Amino acid sequence: MKKSEQGTDNHKETCVAKTKSNGRRCQAKAMDGSSCCFFHDPATQTARKAAQRRGGQANGPVFLPAEAADLPLKSGKDVAALIAETINQVRKGRLSPKIASTVGYLTGLLMKALEASDIEERLTRVEQALKTRKQDEPLFNFDEDEEVAYGNGSKPQAT
Ligand SMILES: [Zn+2]
Repeated sequence: MKKSEQGTDNHKETCVAKTKSNGRRCQAKAMDGSSCCFFHDPATQTARKAAQRRGGQANGPVFLPAEAADLPLKSGKDVAALIAETINQVRKGRLSPKIASTVGYLTGLLMKALEASDIEERLTRVEQALKTRKQDEPLFNFDEDEEVAYGNGSKPQAT
């Protein structure tokens, strides 16, 4: 897998950082292309600290792991499940409140989009029904519907 070792020193496989607690070498494996392990590599440390700052948390994960399963988001039910899950993740500190509020904002947009596409779908069905209807067939049969129809001269029902 590795193309060429950078040849910085002879400790290719072990992290070169010293642990703060006892001043001895870190025993963790160095990452590919780095002389440090994940926790001591300056690049990942900067990224981790930036992510923590964005989340407004001093410790702990702010984002869900990248390998977390994607949720289906095709219906209002799916969205409700996402919101419920997000609430629990924030309560347990697995997700930063800032990301959760972004999820909330995007969820609002998603609900609007789902509603719009639902209306579009219904409209398409109505248009199809109108097209396939026989040309001289009335939309409503007023003779049959007389008892429930209003505004066509029939008397309101007296109960
Ligand atoms: Zn290390």
